Amino acid sequence: MLTDSHCHLASHQFSKTELGEIVSRARDAGITRMITLATSLEDAEANLAIAETHPEVYACIGIHPCDVHETPDGYMAALEQHASHPRCVAIGETGLDYFHSAPNGWSDENYHQRQREFLDQHFLLAARLGKNIVIHTRDRSGDASLQDAIAIYRKHADQVRTVFHCWPNDMTAAEPILELGGLISFTGIATFKNATTVLDAAIQCPQGSFMVETDSPYLAPVPHRGKRNEPAFTRHTAEAIAEARGETLEQLAEHTEQTVNKFFGLDR
Ligand SMILES: [Zn+2]
Repeated sequence: MLTDSHCHLASHQFSKTELGEIVSRARDAGITRMITLATSLEDAEANLAIAETHPEVYACIGIHPCDVHETPDGYMAALEQHASHPRCVAIGETGLDYFHSAPNGWSDENYHQRQREFLDQHFLLAARLGKNIVIHTRDRSGDASLQDAIAIYRKHADQVRTVFHCWPNDMTAAEPILELGGLISFTGIATFKNATTVLDAAIQCPQGSFMVETDSPYLAPVPHRGKRNEPAFTRHTAEAIAEARGETLEQLAEHTEQTVNKFFGLDR
């Protein structure tokens, strides 16, 4: 009934032998599809293997902004090969992360510049393959990574759509993304008592412009906050958002599933 539009099933926090149970717990909770995202070249193979094994699981292939310093300059050929796999439904996780400190030997400036170059290259790849793109942004304060990512998106918006995942902001900040044809998606943060801004954004966001996700193993929703997250818990986030919007869970699922189908090309 629902899709977890963003999880990391190849995370070392999920053991390989456990994945069958994780997928079946999700199914029992009504989470019938999961989109698992790669964050590096090695992770791409692991995620594709999971998507090959479990028909409920689709993969996205990309280099996370926090992995750009460990990825060689000539990475694109290998990335493109992985991204051309029939179970790959979008490019990602890519984006800009100005939150974490630059690694040893890097200045913030060089590190962020490499992230912006990678993001631009991911957009070109997405356009070549006719796929959409999943973007992460995070700032220590202010919203420079979000604004920089929107500026890069704007250059490619006639060819590629994006989802700005794990939306942490209010609805006003999302308007430029929606105007470009992009989406936002909500994690368990929408269930946190101190995150009324995010829940307000979920209330105001029009049907067709948002999806729900776990970002598991991180960010477990209430009532599992602080524990390891998993795709089954998408249901808690979806229920909280549906209730706040004055919709039934079925009504929310109906439009978010259509949004998922369209964005990831699952309706073809
Ligand atoms: Zn993620």
